[in-house]
Amino acid sequence: MTARPMDGKAVAATVRAEVKTRVDALKAKGIQPCLAVVLVGEDPASVVYVRNKGKAAREVGMEAREVKLPITATTADVMAAVTALANDPNVDGVLVQSPMPPQVDARAVVACIPAGKDVDGFTFEQAGRLFRGEPALLPCTPAGVMRLLAEADFKIAGRHAVVVGRSLLVGKPMAMLLLGANATVTVCHSKTPDLPAEIGRADILIAALGKPEFVQGGWVKPGAAVMDVGINRLPDGKLVGDVAYASAAERAGVITPVPGGVGPMTIAYLLHNTAACAAARRDGGAPQTLLPRVA
Ligand code: NDP
Repeated sequence: MTARPMDGKAVAATVRAEVKTRVDALKAKGIQPCLAVVLVGEDPASVVYVRNKGKAAREVGMEAREVKLPITATTADVMAAVTALANDPNVDGVLVQSPMPPQVDARAVVACIPAGKDVDGFTFEQAGRLFRGEPALLPCTPAGVMRLLAEADFKIAGRHAVVVGRSLLVGKPMAMLLLGANATVTVCHSKTPDLPAEIGRADILIAALGKPEFVQGGWVKPGAAVMDVGINRLPDGKLVGDVAYASAAERAGVITPVPGGVGPMTIAYLLHNTAACAAARRDGGAPQTLLPRVA
């Protein structure tokens, strides 16, 4: 079998077009959606991410604010910046770019983000909603993966999903979303004794471990959906995922490339979540990420 490659850029463009339609409608009613991103320090990768987020927001007609703090900022400094955005009625979404410098207590900072502006889905309230199966603002990368599975028309209910990685950012919310879609879910991590055997049982494989081309093609179950979240830069500058793409593509049913697979979906769902927060500013109620129904 040769896998169907999924064009994450194309699906992300569709999501951005949906967001733009929503933003246009909000602007027509006098609401200017606004995303604010806080950056502490000048980590080169973070600087690029923040710039790209701002650019993407402006492209769909949102206002984008970047609040930059020095690498020496204290927890109190970052909390004060986030609190100012939290209290600003013209700001819809607040995101603090990670990683933050070690002296900053990330937990205390996230606690300053109101649930209704939590476009990363990181606060206790949004994470709790997801855990309880209630409408929530979902973390952007797992939301993007669910959208890709829906676009691929890949049946989830009753299938076995294996999530490799258990981070707060990707693995755990991913597992919750797949469970909510009625998959039987196995979560693997660095202490899992026989990863190839677990992966061999996966109808749906989510690779989010952060190790270049770690998952071998021969481990993949024939016909599986392989969603590669990993972004790893090799010494020669090439970007690769967590899955050995060429050999996995020989066995998978659908597969996401790196770059151009899951990556573009993350920013698309950040915009989606910001628009949802802006819509809630107009209509009241709790903002939520909207995903297509999955079978
Ligand atoms: P973390 O480092 O926070 O988590 C990695 C997880 O993988 C941990 O749970 C760890 O287990 C597990 N793991 C590590 N090594 C192994 C192994 N040998 N076998 C099984 N499990 C293992 O990473 P993130 O979740 O933040 O990110 C994962 C990857 O996804 C990275 O490459 C990152 O760059 C990428 N990423 C991509 C995004 C996108 O937009 N496409 C967005 C976010 C992340 P343990 O808990 O036991 O330590």
